[in-house]
Amino acid sequence: MSNDTVFTFGGNAPHSNARQKDKTVVGGKGANLAEMASIGLPVPPGFTIATEECLKYLDQGADFSDKLRADVAEALAHVERTVGKGFGDAADPLLVSVRSGAAVSMPGMMDTVLNLGLNDETVEGLAATSGDERFAWDSYRRFIQMYSDVVLGVDHGLFEEALEIAKEDNDYYADTEMSADDWKSLVAEYKRIVTEEHDAPFPQDPNEQLWGAIRAVFDSWDSERAKIYRRLNDIPHDMGTAVNVQAMVFGNMGETSATGVAFTRDPSTGERAYYGEWLVNAQGEDVVAGIRTPQYLTKAAREAANAKPLSMEEAMPEAYGELARVFDLLERHYRDMQDIEFTVQQGKLWMLQTRSGKRTAKAALKMAVEMVGEGLIDEKTAILRVDPMALDQLLHPTLDPDAPRDVLTSGLPASPGAASGKIVLDADTAEVWANRGEKVILVRVETSPEDIHGMHAAVGILTARGGMTSHAAVVARGMGRPCVSGASQVSIAREGRVLTIGNRELKEGDTITIDGSNGQVMAGEVATIEPELAGDFGVLMEWADKYRRMRVRTNAETEADCRMARQFGAEGIGLCRTEHMFFDADRISLVRQMILAENEAGRRAALDRLLPEQRGDFVKIFEVMVGLPCTIRLLDPPLHEFLPHEDADFVELANATGRDVDQLKRRAGELHEFNPMLGHRGCRLGITYPEIYEMQARAIFEAACEVAKASGEAPVPEIMIPLVATRRELEILKGVVDKAAQEVFAASGTTIEYLVGTMIELPRAALMAGEIAEVGEFFSFGTNDLTQTTLGVSRDDAGRFLTAYVEKGIFARDPFVSLDVDGVGQLVEIAAERGRATRQGIKLGICGEHGGDPASIAFCEKTGLDYVSASPYRVPIARLAAAQASLR
Ligand code: ADP
Ligand code: MG
Ligand code: MG
Repeated sequence: MSNDTVFTFGGNAPHSNARQKDKTVVGGKGANLAEMASIGLPVPPGFTIATEECLKYLDQGADFSDKLRADVAEALAHVERTVGKGFGDAADPLLVSVRSGAAVSMPGMMDTVLNLGLNDETVEGLAATSGDERFAWDSYRRFIQMYSDVVLGVDHGLFEEALEIAKEDNDYYADTEMSADDWKSLVAEYKRIVTEEHDAPFPQDPNEQLWGAIRAVFDSWDSERAKIYRRLNDIPHDMGTAVNVQAMVFGNMGETSATGVAFTRDPSTGERAYYGEWLVNAQGEDVVAGIRTPQYLTKAAREAANAKPLSMEEAMPEAYGELARVFDLLERHYRDMQDIEFTVQQGKLWMLQTRSGKRTAKAALKMAVEMVGEGLIDEKTAILRVDPMALDQLLHPTLDPDAPRDVLTSGLPASPGAASGKIVLDADTAEVWANRGEKVILVRVETSPEDIHGMHAAVGILTARGGMTSHAAVVARGMGRPCVSGASQVSIAREGRVLTIGNRELKEGDTITIDGSNGQVMAGEVATIEPELAGDFGVLMEWADKYRRMRVRTNAETEADCRMARQFGAEGIGLCRTEHMFFDADRISLVRQMILAENEAGRRAALDRLLPEQRGDFVKIFEVMVGLPCTIRLLDPPLHEFLPHEDADFVELANATGRDVDQLKRRAGELHEFNPMLGHRGCRLGITYPEIYEMQARAIFEAACEVAKASGEAPVPEIMIPLVATRRELEILKGVVDKAAQEVFAASGTTIEYLVGTMIELPRAALMAGEIAEVGEFFSFGTNDLTQTTLGVSRDDAGRFLTAYVEKGIFARDPFVSLDVDGVGQLVEIAAERGRATRQGIKLGICGEHGGDPASIAFCEKTGLDYVSASPYRVPIARLAAAQASLR
């Protein structure tokens, strides 16, 4: 039935409904549980309630429909039949877990309740059928604690405290020392706490428990921490979560039982080795909660870490063998690295979850490249597997292995990369300090979902407790933050806001360095080195270049940036902002003389002295970019940006020009503008002071001819006139540029090819593109200004309100970061279409910040632009994103 909202899995469930494969309907967890069951893997039976029911519930806040109640009852009967136990049956009770599961995995964001169905009667039945009274009462106390926390909102700290007191009273060290009777009295205490805190006794009716838990899962979709996670990860808020109800299997039934989490390959390095953690005689949550230190899965990993407690491979060879078989089967089935949860109940393996595993950029690269080699996926799939933005992690420096290190301690290498920053001890402080521009390292005993905003604000994370799959580790890897977890020598005294590591004491605010690739924690800052661009990175980039249509250029104006961009694969310059060359300390005085001159003759005198300087810059750039197109934008910003402010500057200028200070100040005052963004800038400067553009054009052509003569290969200058609104502006200024070209070619006896075009950055220019293209030989979309002028939003002032706009969903993303495709995008499309109608095949590119944003790049591909241009570090991101856009 197509409007089904409850789907069973496991046992003889049909798994034939297409909606049960659709993650937007049943969530990722539900879809994969059904998928695993359908290929014959051991999955405890259960059922999934669709996301639609969540939305309906949150929307209407109404009670559940009779149909839903009936469907759930029927699905529950399927589970009872399959397991052969009855829900609420005092003699032989079925217990279930109630688990959330959205379409996109949101680790640790939603709450799970285990052992549901236990009450004062069924606990006796569980004790009798399992023959293990201690286990039954341990399960019951876990259930009361989880349910009360998640569903009833009782502070879990109260239960933890009660357990601590019980252990202290008995002189116990570990939970495992608690006997059946101890758990029994603790359950009584737990129930007392619930009655006191909740004003009602702990619910005994299993059906009431079930619906309460379902309600709580639905509610958790709207919890604050879930919202924050979605906001940080660009996950839409209107998808809802599914609920999975599943028969319990028990990893806490003694020494032949266990629970664990595993990856089919190493999620940090990408190496092809099983990787994971497990605990004997434990329930799922114990592994991630950091209460007990988990053990290694494989013998090799245990030996590499020099650890004593036996690996699963050694302690439970049969169950481990079965698990390894499942790993391989799942990888072949999903053709991707899987992140798995499993439980062994008295020797029998059960699969509780699988999903595509989160991985570091380095691991994503390695796996994508290796899986092509293994024949698991093809090149195109490999390209689509790597998140372009994640490459950022690989393009940045790592710690210099030869730099001296003052190592304080070591923990687990939980998320690779290195970071130096100031110690902060809580998430709020991290956010405050980061907001004022400081680099901070968040140091916690362990992290929880409440710390997400602080983890995001920090450049690195250090925890004293928790394994490789702890909250801190998983979230840090997802965010691309370096993380060292489980550094057990670290002890934190939040009172004095100090940290002791061994015998060293550090204060909040002291600088440390962490290396998430080897787990080291160091005092102070450690020197870094540039990244390795060959290897897997090189291979993937080669594939990307094979499948992309658009060219990738760079925004650069220095020789160093040009070199770096070429190393990163730039195929030319998309934007060289000539004013950046004016800001140089030696030149600023000449520029000021030019601006403050009273007449053309005065301006020309200063420009004549600037010419050789600017030519020298272009020579250096052209030498790096020989044979490649270079778009050079003539002077763009309003002149007053170069003006002196200090009295001393005016005095210096007066000395240089022989004019008096008052006269200079008066002239500077005349240049003041109320709204410089819309003032005397861009081509308007060229129109009023053509000699400026003439000088710049000369400098470009002289440099190009010089390099052409010297190297035998000419650069291809594309001279770009900024802020054009009309055909006539461009016509006048193209005249200036062409005249300069002819003069230079005649004088040097060399001719080179060049183009004169314009930036499309005003709505009028976009609309009149047909006419402008009669003169302009290329267009480059200046989407920063085009966004500013289309939205009427000043980029420099938007910070005050844009965040609120994004939070309220008015803009899906900051339109200065990701192109407003619906609005600004339309102007780009119109300009492209009208430009092409006039001048067939007119060269089109984008040079705004958006040229390095994958979503905007996808739009450029769709619009058929010839190239995108991005800052040097973003060039590889753009290459990969362009390939993905071609393939999609
Ligand atoms: P999360 O998304 O936070 O991992 P899960 O729903 O996957 O939440 O479950 C939390 C823990 O409980 C996991 O370790 C999982 O393996 C375990 N678990 C969930 N359902 C069952 C079950 N039916 N039997 C045994 N353990 C379970
Ligand atoms: Mg899970
Ligand atoms: Mg501009």
